[in-house]
Amino acid sequence: QQAIEVTGLRKTYAGGKKQEPKEALKGLDLSIPEGSIFGLLGPNGAGKSTLINILAGLVKKTDGRVVIWGFDQDVNPRQSRAAIGVMPQELNMDPFFTPRAALEMQAGLYGVPKSERWTDEILELVGLSDKAEAYARNLSGGMKRRLLLAKALVHRPQILVLDEPTAGVDIELRAMLWRNVRKLNEQGMTIILTTHYLEEAEEMCDEIAIINNGELIVRDTTPNLLKRMD
Ligand code: ADP
Ligand code: ADP
Repeated sequence: QQAIEVTGLRKTYAGGKKQEPKEALKGLDLSIPEGSIFGLLGPNGAGKSTLINILAGLVKKTDGRVVIWGFDQDVNPRQSRAAIGVMPQELNMDPFFTPRAALEMQAGLYGVPKSERWTDEILELVGLSDKAEAYARNLSGGMKRRLLLAKALVHRPQILVLDEPTAGVDIELRAMLWRNVRKLNEQGMTIILTTHYLEEAEEMCDEIAIINNGELIVRDTTPNLLKRMD
């Protein structure tokens, strides 16, 4: 069973008066097995964010097929979006929102009924219980990142996507993130993360794909990746 199946995925950004159109994905094929921790690697500009944003339903693809948890994005956009939660990179959030309010708001956006909300458990999981009522502007960068992870979990997605979760993050927060990721994966969640760091992918991921210039150039399990580097 595949959590994600992408076939012939193309994305061309339109460009503008002074900007050439940019072909960010050039017919990408990629399947991600259910239950895995899957790493997406590649240099800056490779197309990782574009791919993630298309999976999350935030960017419109130019061509190709995207199936998420069995739901074709074009046929069942709502179900395919509901299957995925994304922890984005950027930290911008409303400064006068508390973590609790942000999570309740997110739950509302996803139509999670009051009886099925698990706000306190999520706050506990990411270590924000004692900051539940603090304004976002008073949270540290690390706490904001934890809140972003918390928000991605609100609708209990089957698939969690983390975009560069450890970029610029201190050792303690990194360790906490990895603990959470492993725990969620053990509970059955499929995890997809992007990273610049090969060592990190080797440590965390069962399988990886390397994307370069809008194309898949390597697809392997991490033990084989180690052999490759020898
Ligand atoms: P990565 O996440 O691997 O760094 P991106 O998906 O962000 O790569 O970018 C892939 C290519 O598409 C880059 O050349 C980037 O400049 C371009 N690109 C990304 N977003 C846009 C956009 N909104 N408009 C135009 N070009 C974009
Ligand atoms: P990442 O580090 O995830 O690749 P970037 O810093 O490349 O992200 O891009 C940040 C934002 O700018 C994204 O929303 C992306 O779509 C947009 N962007 C990236 N490259 C371009 C571009 N050449 N033209 C317009 N927007 C771009």
